[in-house]
Amino acid sequence: MAKRKRFFHDTFTHGLTLFFLIFVMLSADRIQADDEKDEFGAMRKHMVSRQIEGRGVTDPAVLKAMKKVPRHLFVPIKSRRYAYGDYPLPIGKGQTISQPYIVAFMTAALNPEPRSRVLEIGTGSGYQAAILAELGCDVYSVEIIGALAERAGETLSRLGYSNVHIKIGDGHKGWSEEAPFDAIIVTCAPEKIPPALIRQLKEGGRLIIPVGKTGGVQQMVLARKKGDRLVSRSVLPVRFVPMVEGPP
Ligand code: SAH
Repeated sequence: MAKRKRFFHDTFTHGLTLFFLIFVMLSADRIQADDEKDEFGAMRKHMVSRQIEGRGVTDPAVLKAMKKVPRHLFVPIKSRRYAYGDYPLPIGKGQTISQPYIVAFMTAALNPEPRSRVLEIGTGSGYQAAILAELGCDVYSVEIIGALAERAGETLSRLGYSNVHIKIGDGHKGWSEEAPFDAIIVTCAPEKIPPALIRQLKEGGRLIIPVGKTGGVQQMVLARKKGDRLVSRSVLPVRFVPMVEGPP
C-alpha cells in the first residue's frame, strides 16, 4: 500500500514538474518570439525611413507593405540579422534578394491597382511577390531554379500569402495560360525585352525590367504598352543577375 502511495506521489510530483517545465519552455518561447518581433520590427521601420522614404519613394501603400513583410524570413537563417541592410543578399544557388530600395522603387514605378494580375519573372526568395501580394495583387511568378521556387512557395504559404502563384519555368516565355496581365515586373536582366512578355501585357499595362549585359551597364526600363509596341524610358542604372536562357 505504502509502495502504491509512493508511486502515486512520485507520479504526481513528476507530472507537476513536467507541467511546470512545459509552461516555462512555452513562456520562454513566447518571450523570444516577442523579442524577435520587436527587434526585426524596429529594423524594418528604420529600413523604410532611411533607405526608402529617405530616397524619395513616398507611395503610402508601398511603404506600408515594406513595413509589414518580414524580410528576414525570406533570407537564409544565417543572414537574418543582415536582412534589413542597404544591399542585396545571397539566397543560395548563386542568386540574390534585391536591395530593399530597389524592391520599393520597382513596386512604386509599377504602381499596380489592388486586385490586378501581375506577372513576376524571377521569384527568387519570394520577397518581391509578397510585397505585391500585400498591395492586393494576384501575383503569377515564374522561377527557373526549382529549389528556389519551392522554398519561396513554402515561405509564402507559411506567411499566408494565398494570392501568389509560382511556376517553375523560363521567364522568357512568360506564363501564357494566365495571360493577359495588367502589369509585369522582371527581377533578372535580359539583354533585350522578351517579345512574349510584350504579348502577354494588356493594352495600357506597365512593365518594369532591368535590361543589359551582365557585368556591363544595365538600365531599369519602365514601359507602357500602346498598340503592339512599348513606349519606354530608362529610369535608373542598376545591376541585376542575368535572365538565363532556359531549355528550348
Ligand atoms: N524577386 C526576387 C529576386 C530575384 S533574383 C526576390 O524578391 O527575392 C533573380 C531571380 O531570377 C533568380 O532567382 C534567378 O534564378 C531567376 N531567373 C534567372 N533567369 C530566369 C529565367 N530565364 N526565368 C525565370 N527566372 C529566372
